[in-house]
Amino acid sequence: MGYQVHAVPCGDYAGAEAALRDTVERMGGMGRFVRPGERILLKANLLRPAPPEAAVCTHPAVTGAVAKLVREAGGTAVIADSPGGALQKESVLRNLYEKTGTAQAAREAEAELCLDPSARLVNLPDGQVLRQAEIISPALDCDGIFDLCKMKTHVFMGMTGAVKNSFGLIPGLTKVGFHGSHPDKTQFAQVLLDLIGFMAPRLCVMDAVLAMEGEGPGASGTPRQVGLLLLSDSPLALDVIAGEIMGLPRDRNALLLAAQARGLSPTRWEEIELVGATLEELRIPDYQFPANVRDNLMGFLGPLTGTAGRLCKQLLSQTPRIRTDKCIGCAICKNACPGKAITMTGPGGKAKVHPRACIRCYCCHELCPHKAVDLKRNWLGRLLNGK
Ligand code: SF4
Ligand code: SF4
Repeated sequence: MGYQVHAVPCGDYAGAEAALRDTVERMGGMGRFVRPGERILLKANLLRPAPPEAAVCTHPAVTGAVAKLVREAGGTAVIADSPGGALQKESVLRNLYEKTGTAQAAREAEAELCLDPSARLVNLPDGQVLRQAEIISPALDCDGIFDLCKMKTHVFMGMTGAVKNSFGLIPGLTKVGFHGSHPDKTQFAQVLLDLIGFMAPRLCVMDAVLAMEGEGPGASGTPRQVGLLLLSDSPLALDVIAGEIMGLPRDRNALLLAAQARGLSPTRWEEIELVGATLEELRIPDYQFPANVRDNLMGFLGPLTGTAGRLCKQLLSQTPRIRTDKCIGCAICKNACPGKAITMTGPGGKAKVHPRACIRCYCCHELCPHKAVDLKRNWLGRLLNGK
């Protein structure tokens, strides 16, 4: 069978359960994805403890509805994620589930919330850049995984969807090391492709009811009403269609380019049957991408690798700057910085970025809860970028 993505209008989260139920039925029923007695990990995107209306995390109505369908099919839904920039420990997970509304959704759907912070080192037999990785235990102890992702822009990768959601299989601050060892977009895309291959989600659901545009994927992004749920058994197909709907140019989508270079498919919308709507009906012409993704230099900087490439990127790409009027000195950015480029300094212990050590991963921008990290280009970058 070819690749399919199901698109379902859903203007309000109150209608999410009915929309998901109908669509899963049209896909062959939940019995196609869950056998009675199985434990299914629902891997939501719970980047940080943000409320549902911030559009940072998979909405609890979506997670709860899928959990209910799993239970009705005779399975047990186990909800888990590893948030960014924080130690993987029980108190962090408990706070994450409560603040995102996921805990309440789990109670209502009679799903399990995973508070186990442990992880184990496992082999990734099919990995091309990752032969081994530390993976959160719930992803190893389940019978199958569902990928419940969110449609969002991403200052580093352009967009985040089903494939990027697999990065949450890596525990807490261990993620930081991956950014450090794979600082280039193309390299990082390879990590994600290895992880999604290992994760092999049986079902992917993208929450695009209230999506995120602008300077995503964290607090600096802007919620955008899209009114859509996307479902597929292929994470790549889901991301291809989501990228088309958002309007992310293919030459700015490092993930799809890396997948294509590996010979994976699908990487083009023409290879996918879109069920429930046409692409023309779904495209959003004015979806806002991060300045970093839109900028004219990306076409030149994107493919550069090696030492020269790193130097060019350091000189010409955007550098994080701390807004001292907004910074509260919480040190979340410092703890998540793979380049060890942030120190806490001055009166009140505000964050300070040291540009020479910065690898431009933008984790600080993604994780700062107070929108205190701006991304700025130096005069040469501005001149060459024509802006
Ligand atoms: S920049 Fe943001 S994350 Fe970093 S210390 Fe300040 S408030 Fe915290
Ligand atoms: S300062 Fe920010 S962008 Fe630079 S390496 Fe640290 S986390 Fe990444």
